[in-house]
Amino acid sequence: MRFADAIGQPRAVEFLRRALASGRIGHAYLFTGPEGCGKRTLARAFAAALLCPTPQGDGGEIDSCGSCPSCRRVESDSHPDLALVEPRERRQIGREAVDQVHAHLCLKPHEAARRVLMVSEAERLSLEAANALLKTLEEPPGEAVILLTSAHPEALPATVLSRPQRVRLYAPADSLVEGFLLARKGIDKRTVRAVARAAAGSLSRAIELADRPAALAERDWMVRRLSTLGAGDNFAFAGEMMDLAGRSEPRGGDGGEDAELSKRELLRMRLMELLDLARAYFRDLAAAGAGATEGLFYAEHADAILERAGAGVSVRSLAAAAAVAEIRRAIDANVEPKTALSVLAARIARLSAREG
Ligand SMILES: [Zn+2]
Repeated sequence: MRFADAIGQPRAVEFLRRALASGRIGHAYLFTGPEGCGKRTLARAFAAALLCPTPQGDGGEIDSCGSCPSCRRVESDSHPDLALVEPRERRQIGREAVDQVHAHLCLKPHEAARRVLMVSEAERLSLEAANALLKTLEEPPGEAVILLTSAHPEALPATVLSRPQRVRLYAPADSLVEGFLLARKGIDKRTVRAVARAAAGSLSRAIELADRPAALAERDWMVRRLSTLGAGDNFAFAGEMMDLAGRSEPRGGDGGEDAELSKRELLRMRLMELLDLARAYFRDLAAAGAGATEGLFYAEHADAILERAGAGVSVRSLAAAAAVAEIRRAIDANVEPKTALSVLAARIARLSAREG
């Protein structure tokens, strides 16, 4: 994990390198920027540089060496002086997690000159956890450096926000995402282009899509199907969704814990993901109807979505998105999925019929 791994963030990288070169390291930094733009990657590169005993280059070129035992341990999340706090499966970060690392920060560093604490998705800190962290931020023990990342810093208490120095990141351009994919994966140029478009500046989404090429086809299907859903399509739609869910692996599910899940549980998880895709379509339509032209989830279908959008469509799309959310909750609560999906299809068709 080196600064070179941070794609398309020259200003943020320069800012951090200046701090390193001058030796004036702040007590805390908050990395902000849109979902998937590389906040965590950059924070880790900075952590590696803070911990590396043999950094390379100087001034504006300074970086961790990338090969010493310290750098290798940062890479494998096993550095004794780097504490990581991350939400589990998009849940809240509780107070215990923060207390635990606070105790850790109070100890003398094992081998580096300082200890580093990294909190990812800091907006998921519970209020209690945020307050506990605030104490650490106000009086950082020893030489500790605290790195927070968040795509939604506005959700953090103002008291926490006021402490760290802000490091702003931006969504990298499609061409940079394409270059990143080409350098990383053995996929053909056409797929790379399609993935970069669909990822809309999110490197993590790009990796996810590149790892599971069927996901692109799934997105295409979802947009096409939902935009043409008519009365009488209920059972066909429910059947197709069940087929899709039964066919492919859940996101990031390659064995491991998933092997223990029952088939039924897997199907349910996949349906949740497909319903998230459906909801994203209606949210896009609503956003486009309200005048948004960028930041759409289905960036690769932006033309079709913008063409369909209008004020009335916006209101109906919000209702459709709410219907998807309701059915998702029902299936999550073990309502028979096929029935629930056909109810959903009927509702969506009714809402679309009011168009024009
Ligand atoms: Zn090193």
